[in-house]
Amino acid sequence: MLRHPKYGYGSNMNPCIDCHALMLREAGRVMEKEGGDFLFTGEVLGQRPMSQNKSALRVVEKESGYEGRILRPLSAKLLPETIPEREGKVAREKLLNIRGRSRKRQMELAKTYHIRDYLSPAGGCLLTEPIFSRRLRDLFQQRGSFGIRDIELLKVGRHLRLSADVKVIVGRHAEDNEKISRMAAPGDDLLRVKGYPGPLLLIPSGGGLEDVKRAASLCIRYSDAPKDEAVTVIWTRDGREQEVQAQSCPRSLPPELMI
Ligand code: SF4
Repeated sequence: MLRHPKYGYGSNMNPCIDCHALMLREAGRVMEKEGGDFLFTGEVLGQRPMSQNKSALRVVEKESGYEGRILRPLSAKLLPETIPEREGKVAREKLLNIRGRSRKRQMELAKTYHIRDYLSPAGGCLLTEPIFSRRLRDLFQQRGSFGIRDIELLKVGRHLRLSADVKVIVGRHAEDNEKISRMAAPGDDLLRVKGYPGPLLLIPSGGGLEDVKRAASLCIRYSDAPKDEAVTVIWTRDGREQEVQAQSCPRSLPPELMI
């Protein structure tokens, strides 16, 4: 779904229409298993201009395989009648006609029902973020197949591509370093500067000696080690430690290196 969304992407790698359809398809399976009559969502007509307009809502419903059985109570009066309404399982007159981006009416409703603890409207989906999307695109381009760990790694540190096969991930702070260390797997290379505070650098699936040397220069670049002399970098692969001598690469990196 994410690689080839039938209805395309939003402003980044967010295939919202396909994603909604997938969520509802999955929810529909649960509904059938549990013996439910219909699905309902908190969608509001026009809240998202591309994925929640009338035609997008219709497409999502069709693609989910549950046509007529998806109720959007907040906007139902602006949408065609659904099967549960026709069957009298839901009273249409009690449903609402909210439209647009404002959340004023929803917030008033929340107050009426004494609901105080709800999420803020902003963001939440990594696929809508430009940096995460760039990294994901890079992963799609460079790797035929990948696993959940590869996706999890996209959320951590700075990513720099050294070649078509080799990328490095450099921790930005202690928390990143800890995550990188936790996510390292057999066959990966891990680098850190000896004797100076600095990042943990990961080469997923490892690299050749030249890649390791370039990565060592980057590791020094982001550390507190002196930039004008050779420094020792500790290189670990599969629990075996070696030392590499390297000097920092220039402070300003070619922009094409950054993913
Ligand atoms: S914002 Fe993200 S989670 Fe929400 S529909 Fe779009 S792709 Fe899916």
